[in-house]
Amino acid sequence: MKNSLNNVRVIGGGLAGVEAAFHLANQGILVDLYEMRPGRQTPAHKTAHLAELVCSNSFKGVDPSTAHGLLKKEMQELNSIIMNVAYSSRVPAGKALAVDRNEFAQQITKTITSHPNIRVIREEVTELSTNNPTVIATGPLTSDPLALTLSRISGGKHLFFYDAISPIIDAISINMQKAFFGSRWEPASTDYLNCPLEKDLYYAFVDELLSARQVYPHEFEEARYFEGCLPVEVIADRGKESLRFGAMRPIGLIDPATQKSPYAVLQLRKENLKGEAFNMVGFQTRLTYPEQKRIFGMIPGLEKASFFRHGSIHRNTFIDSPRLIEKDLSIRGHRNLVLAGQILGVEGYMESAAMGIIAAFSILAMLKQKPFFPPGPDTAIGALISYITDAQIKKFQPMNINFGIMLAPPAPKKEKRQRLLERERSSFQLWLNSLEQLRQ
Ligand SMILES: Cc1cc2nc3c(=O)[nH]c(=O)nc-3n(C[C@H](O)[C@H](O)[C@H](O)COP(=O)(O)OP(=O)(O)OC[C@H]3O[C@@H](n4cnc5c(N)ncnc54)[C@H](O)[C@@H]3O)c2cc1C
Repeated sequence: MKNSLNNVRVIGGGLAGVEAAFHLANQGILVDLYEMRPGRQTPAHKTAHLAELVCSNSFKGVDPSTAHGLLKKEMQELNSIIMNVAYSSRVPAGKALAVDRNEFAQQITKTITSHPNIRVIREEVTELSTNNPTVIATGPLTSDPLALTLSRISGGKHLFFYDAISPIIDAISINMQKAFFGSRWEPASTDYLNCPLEKDLYYAFVDELLSARQVYPHEFEEARYFEGCLPVEVIADRGKESLRFGAMRPIGLIDPATQKSPYAVLQLRKENLKGEAFNMVGFQTRLTYPEQKRIFGMIPGLEKASFFRHGSIHRNTFIDSPRLIEKDLSIRGHRNLVLAGQILGVEGYMESAAMGIIAAFSILAMLKQKPFFPPGPDTAIGALISYITDAQIKKFQPMNINFGIMLAPPAPKKEKRQRLLERERSSFQLWLNSLEQLRQ
């Protein structure tokens, strides 16, 4: 089947593509939704269903006083199809929103294929045309020919195929009595926070790293690491001293508590200007989440660390969004081509789906020749967009939703969370009102 020239093309029938198609179609726009499965499968998908969940069946928590819950609340207020169907295919999972994956994907597929304004075309897309407004939502396993086309449009070096993520820690949870500021080359710098380890503790830490439980990669993800971002446990496996001469080298650092250079050091780098979140430098890892908490908790200062984001490494096609993407999610210089989902450098099912909704409204604004403004950085969805379009980020890595990336109003420590939640409500409501004008 060939697409009609007047229709909006949505490429990829995953979580983001389904949201984009659904919201455009509900605004009376005719959509051609291209999905290459089942004719061509990805290495992780197994079925022909739209919105197939490739791994966990959990969408995490719904409590609106958490960042994940807040994102879901915003999506519900936008009439998200992923959220609505998640509730109607829910299975018991404590505080988390988990689904029967087959029921979930079947319900979505039925709703989308029976929508009068959507035509589902089971074809792989390999080229992009700027004639049709297009949403590109082909996800972390975008097929190779399309990845090549995207790479060409994005100038060659701005498309990545793996991510190697270090954990990010809530600053409030770090014991500052044990850590000290200072960089290796500028002792007075406050850009880095150092957690010192004495000799016995360093070796105990390395032993635990080497025996820890890991998340094993899928066959298609098998150990093709870049030398520059090896998992910390792989480095430790090369020799007990290797971390001490690499990411944990203590050179140039004096611990003010002992006036001596520590035996080894973990460096934490500020994730944002306010220093509310810290990145564990060079600690990309495949350890399971509970093991990260347990083993990284051995490091002085991190005993009670609360993780905004855990470390991970996996196959992931994503674009260097801070250099390429506008706030309306279009590719710079190509207003007709809008990206959605994980390919933008957001991480996770819900984060990806949320970008699908925003992509739909961005296309709608373009068709109506109206300006489009995303929600503000003090909302969950807006914070994700702000993060992926932040030109200050030099080495871009995907991000899930967490309070560390949300713009918080100035407030005393104890009131901070409450003020952030209040401000999110008023900011998101304001944006919803502006959306009404776009819909008219
Ligand atoms: C192995 C693996 C495990 C994961 N586990 C989790 C997890 O447990 N929890 C979590 O939150 N996130 C997980 N993720 C991330 C997850 O993939 C995303 O959160 C989410 O599925 C991304 O949504 P998306 O719509 O961007 O992409 P997808 O949901 O992957 O959808 C993209 C769609 O595009 C189609 N497509 C690709 N190329 C083309 C083409 N050229 N033409 C036409 N169609 C095409 C694909 O077949 C697919 O249906 C995992 C990712 C991988 C790779």
